[in-house]
Amino acid sequence: MTVAQLYLDDIWSKTKNLLIDEGHVEEIVFNTYFEEACLNDINNQCAIVTVKTHLQKIILIQEVEKINNILKRLLDREVFCDVLLEDEYKNNKKQVVITEKTIDDHLLNVYTFDNFIVGPSNKESHSAALACAYNPGKFYNPLFIYGNSGLGKTHLLNAVGNYVKKTNSSKTVHYTSSSDFVSQVVQSIKDNTIEDFKRNLQSLDVLLMDDVQFLAGKEKSHEIFFHVFNELVNTKKQIVITSDRHPTEIKGLEDRLISRFSSGLSVGVDSPEFETSLAILKSKMEHHSLDATLIDDDVLTYIATNFSKDVRKLEGALNRLIFYSINFGSNQHIDFKMAIGAFKTQPSSNEKEITVNKIKRVVADYYGLTKQQLVSKSRTKNISNARHIAIYLCRKHLDLPFIRIGEEFGRRDHSTIISSCEKIEKQLKKDTFMSIAIGEIEKLLF
Ligand code: ADP
Ligand code: MG
Repeated sequence: MTVAQLYLDDIWSKTKNLLIDEGHVEEIVFNTYFEEACLNDINNQCAIVTVKTHLQKIILIQEVEKINNILKRLLDREVFCDVLLEDEYKNNKKQVVITEKTIDDHLLNVYTFDNFIVGPSNKESHSAALACAYNPGKFYNPLFIYGNSGLGKTHLLNAVGNYVKKTNSSKTVHYTSSSDFVSQVVQSIKDNTIEDFKRNLQSLDVLLMDDVQFLAGKEKSHEIFFHVFNELVNTKKQIVITSDRHPTEIKGLEDRLISRFSSGLSVGVDSPEFETSLAILKSKMEHHSLDATLIDDDVLTYIATNFSKDVRKLEGALNRLIFYSINFGSNQHIDFKMAIGAFKTQPSSNEKEITVNKIKRVVADYYGLTKQQLVSKSRTKNISNARHIAIYLCRKHLDLPFIRIGEEFGRRDHSTIISSCEKIEKQLKKDTFMSIAIGEIEKLLF
């Protein structure tokens, strides 16, 4: 027997004693399933325990968290236990080492800080993201970036990862969207590799989780993310998370996770102002190696004014213009007249779909008002009542964040929007006229 094996046997027998002595496992369970297990290897953060039967393996995997905790106490460092059948271990020695070490970063290389245009709408989130990239785990943990779709959250998230990789190649970085995370959890459970999956994530220096709102309601993924999250934050590893809404507004996420999110820094991204939109357009043209004189300034002004709610739409409008110019005159100069032609042929949005605009129109028509009156500052009773209803319906049917609804209704504060929704909810409980009106409006909407 080698010295290394003696050492492993010693650790393992201490672990087993503690499992029994401290009452983590009942004696009968221990004798049947744990007694024959052996500790075969410890390298880096991975401890490999082998067992003789499938049943032993299943039971040990269930208790792996307890084993990890004891190993951590004995070795004074984080160690994650992997349970394998003896045969699996013998045949698969190589593979075990590979799964332990490899984790693809999944970063999108095109998104960097260099090509991210900074303006008042994203200054805060940019500066916080850069701080995290510059010194991972030191400043804000987690950093939580929230805002509507198309405002650069995914871009910033990848910029953090790409920056860390460029400046410190020894650091491990991983980008994932929460829907990919859920699929990976499902697959790992199927393949019985969930512990590997967790261990890989817990060994990271930087974890970038995009669109965390999609974790809502996915209990197992939620639980695993919670563990990974705690481990990383406790060991001062950086986590950056994005979402389409503020953490407290994500329904279906456990309170304990939301309060953990709030322990770091939450910053919002807004729609770019005119100057930022114009700068983004110019930078995208440069990126596509387009001559700056290809498009007239008043055309760029037109796009920056009309499509700036969402940078993706801004890019879409630019692409459409370029496509139009290629089709109608082999890359000819784009003036205002041509631009109007290009946008005139754009398909209008599908009216069957419920949108904020449709809700505004239907509610305004129902009460004989104009859409402008609905979003105006007027506090006249019938106008404000209709406004409350429209706001309530936006929340109910579109599930939009309060901030976003506020923007759609005359840039009102999110607390005003919450109070509108609450007013209608209260009235619905006691006022049958209100429920009839809402029912009729909903019929017109669908
Ligand atoms: P989100 O994740 O918030 O929905 P994305 O990060 O996917 O938005 O951004 C959508 C597109 O807009 C991407 O192509 C991105 O590069 C671009 N974009 C957004 N904000 C900026 C910015 N400030 N500077 C340059 N490009 C931007
Ligand atoms: Mg995104």
